[in-house]
Amino acid sequence: MQDGGIPDTLTLPLHQHIGQPAKALVAVGDRVLKGSCLAEAADHLAVPVHAPTSGTVEAISLQPVPHPSGMTDWCITLRPDGLDTWGERTPTADYKSLDRGQLLELIRHAGIAGMGGAGFPTHVKLHPLRERKVDTLILNGAECEPYITADDMLMRERAGQIISGLQIMAWILRPERCVIAIEDNKPEAIQAIRAATAGTQTETLVIPTKYPSGGEKQLIQIVTGMEVPHGGIPADIGVMCQNVGTAYAVSRAVLQGEPFISRITTVTGDAVKAAGNFEVLLGTPIEHLLSRAQLAPDRLNRLVLGGPMMGYTLNQPAAPVIKTTNCIIAATAAELPDPAPEQPCIRCGHCAEVCPVKLLPQQLFWYAKAAEFEKAEHQNLFDCIECGACAYVCPSSIPLVQYYRFAKGEIRTQQAEQSKSDQARARFEARQARLEREQAEREERRRQRARAAAEAQTKKTGYRRHQRRCTGQRRSRGQSSTG
Ligand code: SF4
Ligand code: SF4
Repeated sequence: MQDGGIPDTLTLPLHQHIGQPAKALVAVGDRVLKGSCLAEAADHLAVPVHAPTSGTVEAISLQPVPHPSGMTDWCITLRPDGLDTWGERTPTADYKSLDRGQLLELIRHAGIAGMGGAGFPTHVKLHPLRERKVDTLILNGAECEPYITADDMLMRERAGQIISGLQIMAWILRPERCVIAIEDNKPEAIQAIRAATAGTQTETLVIPTKYPSGGEKQLIQIVTGMEVPHGGIPADIGVMCQNVGTAYAVSRAVLQGEPFISRITTVTGDAVKAAGNFEVLLGTPIEHLLSRAQLAPDRLNRLVLGGPMMGYTLNQPAAPVIKTTNCIIAATAAELPDPAPEQPCIRCGHCAEVCPVKLLPQQLFWYAKAAEFEKAEHQNLFDCIECGACAYVCPSSIPLVQYYRFAKGEIRTQQAEQSKSDQARARFEARQARLEREQAEREERRRQRARAAAEAQTKKTGYRRHQRRCTGQRRSRGQSSTG
């Protein structure tokens, strides 16, 4: 493993997870130590951001972030002082003395979010609903795509800490079975993990190297033989899948008291001379990492973030490494040629033959292209894991996954709008009901007042009559006594 070094500046996006962006706790000019919390979680699905090294906050501004659109987002820019001085760390050697809630808090405070994909906060995933008991905890040691070797390297070099992290997660979840699944093309990782699990009840399961067995649902099926139900999550069938990198980060957070401030990223492709796995501080500009991997700019044709199947072209090499950056491919033209122009579908059916989820990719394509999103949804569009296998074999070079992403995005937007209009209608109806209720209450109060006034009037009249009668009687008694 190579050292990614400390660059001149670190750019830390406030939004590296699926929840709301974190809220900055520092101001420009503040001095911070390594591990200091720079931004706090804004909601339950957010995680904090920490300083990967000591230095000074230089800016809080919009900066390029790793995203297919090349967008900018709010980031804290840190200028390292080169001293790499740690702030206070609070390790917990005896984690079994803590209860489940305290451990989840430690993991949340360490800013750990799933290290591949969307950046789902680990403390949320480790807290399934009470009725969803996790029977099987799977540690995913299968790389999600060709080219990526970050997890392989981590298992080879840090197997002991990965197993410690797994044991902490098992202490939280209390599963009946713990399994680490590793592909059979990683013999050194298998050996290291077997040595680290010797004498424990954790199983090491060697699985065939076949893309996309590193996908969560595929791996669960391989390990347990069970299928995650359509529209469901693994916890529905009593299974949870965590990445080996996440287990390592959990171990560091609990046993060393260190927040999530660095990760292992694969830098590969024929345009770099020193390809390999780098231990990188989060926030490191991708161009800095490429220069450490000895990029030959004249050979670079395309920069891809992620793997060759599911990754995307990155046009902003100044964007930073974030919590989910697992791979950077600096590809030559021969290695990853620009995609050929799209041709009409010839209905060859190759796409359906390779789909690991048994979908009908060409039908999904037709529906997405014709904006018939409801039909695409009925064809289980949301079961598509965007593995790219269909697009890879398509002789017409149709960028199928892009069509599916577009359709999913449109459906989500429509659902969000529908939900907004449902909420607005519900608010309107609730307001109408409140106004009618208040009107009825006013009416009722008015009736009560009128009734009370009438009763008072009746009493008054009766009293006067009574008084008049008494006065008359007194007078008549007076007259009779004087007579
Ligand atoms: S592989 Fe391409 S051309 Fe063949 S059916 Fe699928 S979408 Fe059509
Ligand atoms: S990307 Fe294509 S092959 Fe992969 S799951 Fe989706 S439809 Fe199937």
